[in-house]
Amino acid sequence: MVSRVIPVEPFDLVIFGGTGDLARRKILPGLFRRFCAGQMPAGARIIGAARGDIGQQGYQDMIRGAINEFGAPSAESLVHLDAFIAQLHYVAIDICGDGGWGELAKLIRKDLVNAYYFSVAPSLFGDIAARLNSWDIATPEARIVVEKPFGRDLQSAKALNKVLSQQFDESQIYRIDHYLGKETVQNLMAVRFGNLLFEPLWNAQYIDHIQITVAETVGVGGRGAYYDKSGAMRDMVQNHLMQLLCLIAMEPPSHFDPDAVRDEKLKVIRSLAPVAAHHVVRGQYDATATTASYRTDAENPRSFTESYVAIKAHIENWRWAGVPFYLRTGKKLKARTSEIAIVFKKLPHSIFEKSADEKQNVLAIQLQPNEGMTLDVTIKEPGPGGMRLVHVPLDMTFADALGDHSEDTPDAYERLIMDVIRGDQTLFMRGDEVEAAWKWTDPIIEAWEARNDVPKLYDVGSAGPEDAMALIHRDGRRWREVK
Ligand code: NAD
Repeated sequence: MVSRVIPVEPFDLVIFGGTGDLARRKILPGLFRRFCAGQMPAGARIIGAARGDIGQQGYQDMIRGAINEFGAPSAESLVHLDAFIAQLHYVAIDICGDGGWGELAKLIRKDLVNAYYFSVAPSLFGDIAARLNSWDIATPEARIVVEKPFGRDLQSAKALNKVLSQQFDESQIYRIDHYLGKETVQNLMAVRFGNLLFEPLWNAQYIDHIQITVAETVGVGGRGAYYDKSGAMRDMVQNHLMQLLCLIAMEPPSHFDPDAVRDEKLKVIRSLAPVAAHHVVRGQYDATATTASYRTDAENPRSFTESYVAIKAHIENWRWAGVPFYLRTGKKLKARTSEIAIVFKKLPHSIFEKSADEKQNVLAIQLQPNEGMTLDVTIKEPGPGGMRLVHVPLDMTFADALGDHSEDTPDAYERLIMDVIRGDQTLFMRGDEVEAAWKWTDPIIEAWEARNDVPKLYDVGSAGPEDAMALIHRDGRRWREVK
């Protein structure tokens, strides 16, 4: 089966912060891959806008280097590199002043799709938004893309939403959570709502509990100062883990359209029960003989910031009453893995010998390092020797059936940028969703701050602090192995 690539309309995409780390590591290598796949049409332009007078040639050279360094281009794709680079432009701009805006205004072709990617610190969002309008650059159809972090609490998120909404309609604002751009996250919706099989079982009657794990092996080295002001709760839970939780828990939307999907996600967030203090565990990685502690990496010897968090959450509605959602994320753990596991209930009665009935069906959705889905089922062990049962994973990634498209399957950033150009907001967070998520996480963070909560230490290369194990063991359950 050949995957279909439908070219988008010609566009002008301006990347504010076009020389920054995110632009060089993710956005431009991603756009290059879309160009190679034939999705970015000739006539489309990417305009880097940043501090520094490096000129058009200097910018093109910088991005050529970035694609080679971060894009892992194949030999075949490098044939297209010159043509892609020729579509890059550069404007030296002073976001907080007047420099460069006149030049940008002249460059933009208003009759095409216009998109403005705010790949800069959130403190600059308001300046960009206001100047795009005061210089009469943005059209009523223009789209703006904003990066995380979207605020650090409800109050700051509201302030950001206000700043943006003064200049743009909600239908123009694309708040990126790159987890939503992952193939398997979308496949989760396809599996749930494209099959009759799962939805009747998708509730408290058949599901015992759900685990969402985002484990990283890296520490905070390099961005310690930034991370120390944020922590795992703000950096990962409020956005990525909550978005995954929403997609698992939401009711079927009436249509697969942006507001129908986001309305259902919002209802999930609003149904989350406040979390009791003993249902949250925070951790911080400790030093080993060869690796530094979190506090050393963060250059803050008295830091109380968490590099790990585990939460037992409940959704108070008919579908999920009594079903715990165990969320955990952390740095410097045993393995790099992101997984959603839907653990079904035990059999009500087994007709087989003991032991077989103890295994539960598990639908596991892997987001990284490899995207895929497995369903653990019990079958008869092949061969003679009576009715011996084994529990085996049924691979549901359909890689064989659909062929391997790893070369031309877009990664999360690529897919989301193309969605912006197409004007499809389904996989982007709406303002009210972001605010509702902060409303749920704020009291947890405030309670830690109020009592100067000290995170529990955990060993580098472990699965997290002991208390996080106890959090789930107390309920007679176990975390899935981090591997
Ligand atoms: P960076 O510091 O590497 O780059 C900042 C960019 O903004 C540079 O191009 C700089 O020239 C430009 N800039 C800053 N102030 C300016 C001004 N006054 N006028 C004009 N240009 C100005 O930052 P980054 O790591 O690329 O991150 C950008 C945004 O994306 C941040 O909000 C960050 O939190 C977010 N983000 C980054 C990553 C990542 O992997 N780097 C991941 C997720 C989110």
